[in-house]
Parts: sequence; structure tokens; C-alpha cells
Amino acid sequence: MNKRKLIVIGNGMVGHRFCEKLVEFGGTDKFEITVLGEEPRRAYDRVHLSEYFTDKSAEALYLCSPDWYRTNGIKLLLSEPAVSIDTIKRKLVTNLGTELLFDELIFATGSSPFVPPLEGLDKEGSLRI
Ligand SMILES: Cc1cc2nc3c(=O)[nH]c(=O)nc-3n(C[C@H](O)[C@H](O)[C@H](O)COP(=O)(O)OP(=O)(O)OC[C@H]3O[C@@H](n4cnc5c(N)ncnc54)[C@H](O)[C@@H]3O)c2cc1C
Repeated sequence: MNKRKLIVIGNGMVGHRFCEKLVEFGGTDKFEITVLGEEPRRAYDRVHLSEYFTDKSAEALYLCSPDWYRTNGIKLLLSEPAVSIDTIKRKLVTNLGTELLFDELIFATGSSPFVPPLEGLDKEGSLRI
């Protein structure tokens, strides 16, 4: 059986949980799955991010073992964000110029917080998001 191509954009908490559920419900039998992560690290627990400063261990924050994706037959591409999507041709291009075809596309790219227009935000040393 030809597997349908499924791409997950984003390897954050939601993207990873989605993959866990896909594996749990046999999705890897039906889909050839590729996950694109913008960050150099695989999915980690952002909610407990501040514990990095007490434990000083990035390892403890990861949501899965280093080989979880490979073991479950999922291709994980890190430091390789999607930069353009052609929904007619069902083709996606990454920052490295890799072209990937898809049947199903999942957006798990998170969101950006609203920053109120505070005076001085544009000054050197102020918070930038
Ligand atoms: C310090 C801290 C404490 C928090 N505490 C709580 C809490 O107590 N309770 C709570 O409910 N929530 C909390 N949150 C928020 C919680 O972490 C987020 O709600 C959660 O991470 C959202 O998951 P997500 O997968 O939607 O987005 P993210 O975790 O932001 O993941 C999205 C991923 O997509 C990637 N991405 C974006 N664009 C592309 C692209 N074009 N191609 C490939 N990848 C891309 C991003 O780099 C990112 O890795 C906290 C967050 C922080 C930082």
C-alpha cells in the first residue's frame, strides 16, 4: 500500500504530542511522516524551561529519547524550517532548499505573544520577541 505523505511543521510540544498520538493509533502504517523543526533541538518541555537554571540539564527537558522519531519510522529534520508552501502543487520548501511533497500538512508552529506598545520597547537592551 502506498503511504500518504504527511508533514508536521513544528517540533514543539504540540507537534510532538501529535506524533505520539499518530504512533499510538497506528498512523505510521498509513502515513510516511516527516517533521520539520526550526530549532536545532528536538521537542522539549517549555513549561518547565525555568528548571534548566536549577538542574542545568537540557537532557531532562526533552520530551523523548534521541532516537524516538527514528525508532517509530518518522523522519525528523531539525534546523530546517518550512519557508514556503505551494498548496496547489502540495509542495513545501525548507530553508535548505529541500522540496517535499505532501498529501496532509499539519501546522504546529505555536504562536507569538501579543506585545503591548510600551514606550521604550525599541531601545537597546529591551525585550525583543
Ligand atoms: C517559561 C515558560 C513557561 C510556560 N508555562 C506554561 C504553563 O504553566 N502552562 C501552560 O499551559 N503553558 C505554559 N507555557 C506555554 C507552553 O509552553 C506553550 O503553550 C506550548 O509550548 C505551545 O506548544 P506549541 O507546540 O503550540 O508551540 P511551541 O512549543 O512554541 O512550538 C512550536 C515550534 O514550531 C517551530 N516552528 C515555527 N515555525 C516553523 C516553521 N516554519 N518550520 C518549522 N518549525 C517551525 C518553533 O520553532 C517551535 O519549536 C510556558 C511557556 C514558557 C516559555
